[in-house]
Amino acid sequence: MFYYSIGNSKTGFIKDQVRLNPFIVKTKMPSRELDIQDLKISFSTPRGKLTAVNGISFHLNQGETLALVGESGCGKTVSALSILRLLPEPPAEILSGKILFSGQNLLSLNAKALQNLRGRSISMIFQDPMTSLNPVLTIGEQMAETLLRHTPMSRPEALQKSADLLGKVEIPSPKEKLKHYPHQLSGGMRQRVMIAMALACSPRVLIADEPTTALDVLIQAQILELLGNLKRETGMSILIITHDLGVVAEIAQRVLIMYAGEIVESGPAQALLDDPRHPYTRGLIASVPKLGALKKTGTRLEEIPGNVPSLDQRPSGCAFHPRCNWAIEKCKTQKPPLREGEGQRQWRCHLEPGSL
Ligand code: SF4
Repeated sequence: MFYYSIGNSKTGFIKDQVRLNPFIVKTKMPSRELDIQDLKISFSTPRGKLTAVNGISFHLNQGETLALVGESGCGKTVSALSILRLLPEPPAEILSGKILFSGQNLLSLNAKALQNLRGRSISMIFQDPMTSLNPVLTIGEQMAETLLRHTPMSRPEALQKSADLLGKVEIPSPKEKLKHYPHQLSGGMRQRVMIAMALACSPRVLIADEPTTALDVLIQAQILELLGNLKRETGMSILIITHDLGVVAEIAQRVLIMYAGEIVESGPAQALLDDPRHPYTRGLIASVPKLGALKKTGTRLEEIPGNVPSLDQRPSGCAFHPRCNWAIEKCKTQKPPLREGEGQRQWRCHLEPGSL
C-alpha cells in the first residue's frame, strides 16, 4: 500500500492521507463501453415538471473505474438508474439524449430487450442490500434466479455456480450460506452477496450506487479491494456513485463531479483531487475530516454553506452561486462556460483558473 494526499500546498487546501490501491495502474483506454450524450431527465410533480438531470454527457471506457461524485440530491442516482431504465416512467421522463452501449441506444430498446440486458451485460449494486434482497427467499434461490433467467443452466448447475460466486467474493462456507435468508447475514456479507449476484453473468459494466455507504470503514475497505480485484480479473468497467472522496482516491481512475443535475468538473482522479478547479470540488475536498488535523490547528472543519437546491428552486446562472465564496455578479445570471485544461480536465466556472 502507499498513500495519496488530497489537496496541495499551492491551494492551501487540506492534506489528507488516503490509501490508494496499488493495483490502480495507468492503462490504455481502448473503447467506450457506455457513452451518455446530452441526457436530460425530468419528474412530473404537483409543482410541475422538474428537471433532475440537465443535459449531462460522459463516457465510461472499457476496463475503467469512473466515479460520479456529489452531495445527495445532485442527480447521481437518477443518472445511474436511467442507464438501465430503472426509473419509474412516469413520473420520470427522459426528455432527450442518448445512452449508447456498444453503439446501441438503450433508450430505444423495448422492455424485453432491456430485461435481457439487465444483469447480463450491465449489472447494478445498490446502497442498501437489505432493501434490494428479497427477505423471504434464501440467498441460493435469489442467486440461482439470475442465472436461470440469463443462461441455459439447470437448477443444480445454477446453485453450484452461485456457491462458486459466493466463494469468489470471499464468503466462508458458501454452500451453507445459500440456505440462509438475508437477515441471517451481516451487512458486509449481504453486500458481498449483492456483488456476487451482480457478477453472476460476467457483466461488461457494473454500476455501483454507494456500495459501501451503509458499511463500517473496515468492511468498506474490504469491499473496495474486492471490487478492484474482480475488475482486474474480469476486465469489466465500473461506474461508482459516491459522495466519499476517500472511496474515489481508493478506486477511481477518472471522476465526474455533479451538482444540481449537471457535471461541473471532470478529470483523472489523482489530478482532480490534487488540484481541483471548480469551487464546489474544492469545497467537497475541504470538508473531508482529517484525523488529528483539527486538534493540531484548533480550527473548525470546513463546510460548504447551505444545501443543494431543490429541483423547483434551481438558482439562475451558475446553480452553485448562492453557496460559492468566489461568486461574482455575472455568476447570478449567466451560465458558466465549459473550460478545458491539459490532461483531460474540464470544469464550468466564470473565473479563470488560478484566480480561486
Ligand atoms: Fe462560483 Fe461563479 Fe464559478 Fe459558479 S461560476 S462556481 S458561482 S465562481
